[in-house]
Amino acid sequence: MNNRREFLRNVSLFTAAGLLAGKVGSVQAATSATTATTAGKVIGLQTYSLFGELYKDVPGVLKKLKQGGYSTLELAGYGNGKINGIDMQEFKKMAEDAGLKITSSHVNPPVWEYTTSNVGSIKDFWKKTADDHARIGTKYVVQPGLPQTRSVEETQYVAEVFNEAGKIMKAAGIQFGYHNHDREFSHVVPGGKGSVFDRGAKGDVIYDLFIKSTDPSLVVFEMDVYWTVMGQNDPVSYMQKYPDRIRLLHIKDRHVLGQSGMMNFETIFNQAIKNGIKDYYVELEGMPSGKTQLEGVLACCDYLKKARFVKI
Ligand code: MG
Repeated sequence: MNNRREFLRNVSLFTAAGLLAGKVGSVQAATSATTATTAGKVIGLQTYSLFGELYKDVPGVLKKLKQGGYSTLELAGYGNGKINGIDMQEFKKMAEDAGLKITSSHVNPPVWEYTTSNVGSIKDFWKKTADDHARIGTKYVVQPGLPQTRSVEETQYVAEVFNEAGKIMKAAGIQFGYHNHDREFSHVVPGGKGSVFDRGAKGDVIYDLFIKSTDPSLVVFEMDVYWTVMGQNDPVSYMQKYPDRIRLLHIKDRHVLGQSGMMNFETIFNQAIKNGIKDYYVELEGMPSGKTQLEGVLACCDYLKKARFVKI
């Protein structure tokens, strides 16, 4: 944990400009709320951010998202042709009625250990997932969870299964992607019995192994910028290192965007624009008590609308 604390202290050096921009931004927020604009911006939301609030009134909440400035959605909660129990076609219709486009969906296979004996059932799962998502026309299907990767060999096997998922999605006209948390920045060694979460550890970083062991024509990476920082790494360096592989972003902070001061969204967006990234999704986890997730999600959108460095 000391290492994480140390990293966060160092990261604050390169987020100094971000912090300053954040302060300037909040002053502007108070004076120019009416000039906030979504012109030229396509702001997406990962619907998980709303927790159960979404399902109390799906059409009503979707309309509020559109009014608040969101244009696209990345779904969560897929299972057997449904999104949290709602038929996907019906969900799509509600999104369209609200003026929102579903462009992505987070899906995890039902198993966490990938082996030669269950790879067939994982592929069957992805085929059904691909069919269901092709019917609603999503551009991406993204796996957000890390399977078991205790060694270099297990990590490379998981990457092979990602390639298989990528082939299945591609055949359905969908791009397969992988989304990280912090554990992907752990190290693994050949024949290892567990990953080590320490920047100084020997071996390969799981995230880098995934990138190097997957086929660029089959697998893209959706970098969660907050979890990358929590994994003691700089998302901008990663975007510079792998411009052709990191094609999607999760724009996330500790709570509402821009409030913690630990994320330098200006450098992240500048690099995203340079790399030609078009699709990103806001993600929000816990809100301080007394606030709803919807309030937080709309505050995140306001932050992006007001930020001059957000041009996508
Ligand atoms: Mg995320």
